[in-house]
Amino acid sequence: MAKYSSKPAAHVVENQSPPPLQPQPQPQSLPPLRFAPSFDTRQPGDIILQASDAAAVACYFRLSLLANISTFFAELPPPGPSDLYDGIAILRLHSTSSMGLLLFLSLVRSTTTLEAYAFDDPHAPPAIGIQSILDAAGLARNYAAPLVFRLLVSGLDGLRETEPALEFAIWTIGGSEKHTKEAAERTIKIKYDLTKVDPDIVKAVKAYAPASWMQMQDLHLRGANAMRRWWDWAPEEAPTEVGDTACPTCAPEERDRISKGLVELFAECDSVEAVMAVYGGDLGSDCKSCETARTRAYYPRVQWLCDFATKYDLKGDELGNYVADSWVIWDNGMNDS
Ligand SMILES: [Zn+2]
Repeated sequence: MAKYSSKPAAHVVENQSPPPLQPQPQPQSLPPLRFAPSFDTRQPGDIILQASDAAAVACYFRLSLLANISTFFAELPPPGPSDLYDGIAILRLHSTSSMGLLLFLSLVRSTTTLEAYAFDDPHAPPAIGIQSILDAAGLARNYAAPLVFRLLVSGLDGLRETEPALEFAIWTIGGSEKHTKEAAERTIKIKYDLTKVDPDIVKAVKAYAPASWMQMQDLHLRGANAMRRWWDWAPEEAPTEVGDTACPTCAPEERDRISKGLVELFAECDSVEAVMAVYGGDLGSDCKSCETARTRAYYPRVQWLCDFATKYDLKGDELGNYVADSWVIWDNGMNDS
C-alpha cells in the first residue's frame, strides 16, 4: 500500500497534461526473440526457425538435420541480409503455431536418439494437444518432410484408441493413400462414431484434403446402412441360377434350398459381422459338394456386403462386379465336374 500512499495527490493533476518526453536511447540491439527452452542454445550449423502465431516462439535447430528429412530445407537458398538475425539465418515459417513447431522439431530431433518421441494424453493438460499434432502435420506437409508423418503416427500410441480419427487425419494431410485407407477402415472395424470426432480434426482434414473427409463420411454412411441394403435385395435376388451349382444327386431340391437359404440362413443377421460369421460356418448342406455350391452361391453377396460396409475406396457397382465374378467361378466349377 505504501506504493500508492507515497504518490502525491498532485500526481493526478500532473497526469492531465502530457508527461514530459524523456529522450529514449535508440536500441542498437535486435528485437529480442523468445526462444523455446529446449531449443535455446546456439550450435554451429544452426538456423533459427520462428513460428508465426502470437507467441512467435523461436528455435535454434541444425540445418543439416532438417535438410536430411525435407527437400525444402535441403534446397534452402543462402540467406540474404534481411534473413539474418545476429549473424545467423532466420526463417519465419508462415501459418505455423509455436506448439506445432516445437512438436515438429522435437520429432525431427528424436531421429538422432534411441528413444522414440511419444505424446502424453492430449486430454490431460499441459500435454501436447490434438491441435499441436495437426499443426505439426501441416508443417510437415508445407515444408516437405514426409518422415514426420510416420514419427507423428508412431508417437500417437494410446491416442490411437482415444481419438482414432487422428491417425486418419495425419495420413491424409501427409497424402498417403495407402495409410489413409487403412486408418479409415480401422475406424469402421472398431465401430468408431464419426459424429464424435474432435472438431479440430474435421477442420484440418477439410482444409488439407476435403475429398478424403467426404470419402470417410461416405464409408461410415455405408457402414451404417449396409444391412438395410442387404435385406433390400437379399430376398428377391435369391437367384435361381445359383442352384444350378448343386450336384446332380441333390438337385433340384438343393437348388431350391440354396435359394431359400440366402434368406433363411441369414435371417437372424443384423450386422455385417453376423453375416460373415454365418457365412464362415456350416451352411447346412449334408452333401459336401453342395456345401461348396452354397459357399459359391452366397459369395458375391457376402463379399459385396463386406466391401460396401468396410472399404474406404469403394467404386462403381460392386455388386455387379461380384455377380460377374461369381459366374466365372461357377463356370469353372461346372467345367471341373
Ligand atoms: Zn449334393
